[in-house]
Amino acid sequence: MARLAGKIAIVTGAGVGIGQAIARRFATEGAHVWVTDIDGKTAADTAKSIVDNGGAATAMQVDVSKGQDVTALTRAIETAHDKADILVNNAGILVRGEVRNLSDADWTHQREVNIDGVLRLSRDCLPLLRKAHGGSIINISSIMANRGLRPLAAYTATKGAVTALTKGLAIEYAPFNIRVNVISPGYIETAITDRLLRLPPVRKALVDKTPMGRLGVPDDITGAAVFFASDDSLYCTGSDLMVDGGMSAGL
Ligand code: NAP
Repeated sequence: MARLAGKIAIVTGAGVGIGQAIARRFATEGAHVWVTDIDGKTAADTAKSIVDNGGAATAMQVDVSKGQDVTALTRAIETAHDKADILVNNAGILVRGEVRNLSDADWTHQREVNIDGVLRLSRDCLPLLRKAHGGSIINISSIMANRGLRPLAAYTATKGAVTALTKGLAIEYAPFNIRVNVISPGYIETAITDRLLRLPPVRKALVDKTPMGRLGVPDDITGAAVFFASDDSLYCTGSDLMVDGGMSAGL
């Protein structure tokens, strides 16, 4: 049974990785997915693959750190559907480096994508979500959101902000019948983790720390996203769901 039939979903950073997997899964569950990414080509390729498989998708180049891109997105969706049921704030970047060596530009860029982007989309999509009479916002944080991880203090700080923002927005948007939840993935094999996971000792250490005995793949996140997007989670808001093969249980 299609659990998202008739729903309009927006997924940011959906050209590759976790966002792409969520976009594809939402489409198989019956949603019309707006596949957005800073890279217009990967967004278009993902949307085409959805349509080729019988789903409904629209691609759009959207840099979540740019207000004008987000305005263009909300206007396009208003014209096409006059509502949005689901917003997945997935786009994120990881800038490696010790804080003492981090330039203002690197910090600002990471903050603008990972925090400001989530806040902007959640704010600017509110009128569309309200028109859906029961919207769902799903943010993508990390199991490292409230932990130290060297040399990623700045990255984990942005994820801590995403988790905190989720809880604040859950309270603020509940009167509008909009739920706001967060998924915290563990180590998932994507472009972000590729450099790290290509190092055999690091990969082995991370697998060893994962009770389920393997690292995650983007499809592992999609069930949690469908849960928060669908009526199955109607009484959940402000929830933080860890999807990490049990790693955080032992941290
Ligand atoms: P990914 O494979 O690098 O995918 C991220 C996507 O977001 C890419 O298509 C990227 O485009 C796009 N993007 C980057 N900056 C953007 C912007 N300003 N506006 C719109 N799109 C932008 O990474 P991923 O692993 O799937 O990450 C997805 C989310 O999961 C991120 O928020 C990440 O922090 C989070 N997460 C990942 C893991 C993990 O282990 N992979 C763990 C915890 C949390 P380009 O490729 O062109 O930059």
